[in-house]
Amino acid sequence: MAKRTRAAQEQAMHECYVSRNHWWKWTTVDEERDYYIQHMECLRCGGHRRWRVSKTTGDPMGNNYNMPDGYYHQFEDGENPQQVRKELRLFEVEQHVQQTKPSNLRRVK
Ligand SMILES: [Zn+2]
Repeated sequence: MAKRTRAAQEQAMHECYVSRNHWWKWTTVDEERDYYIQHMECLRCGGHRRWRVSKTTGDPMGNNYNMPDGYYHQFEDGENPQQVRKELRLFEVEQHVQQTKPSNLRRVK
C-alpha cells in the first residue's frame, strides 16, 4: 500500500470499520491438502484477509484477518458496543455530508 498521512490512514481504517466493508484485492493463493487459502489485501485500509475455501466442495471454511494497528475501536468498560457503533456510523456519514459540495449533496424530502 502506498505511503499516506496518518490522518488519511485513520480515515481509511474508520471507513472500513464503520461500514464493515473492505476493498479486497485478491492476491496470492496457498494450497493446502484440503483447501486453498486465498490471500486478500484491502486497498483502502491495508488490512489482510486469509480466506480458506474447500478444494472439494468450494465451501468457505473461515477467515483470518490481520488488521492494521488502530483499526479496531477500543471499547471502554461499560460502553455498549452496538450503541457506540451507531454513534460512529452517524458521525462518519455526517462528516461526509460536511465534506460534500452543496451542489453534490442530494436532499430527498
Ligand atoms: Zn479495509
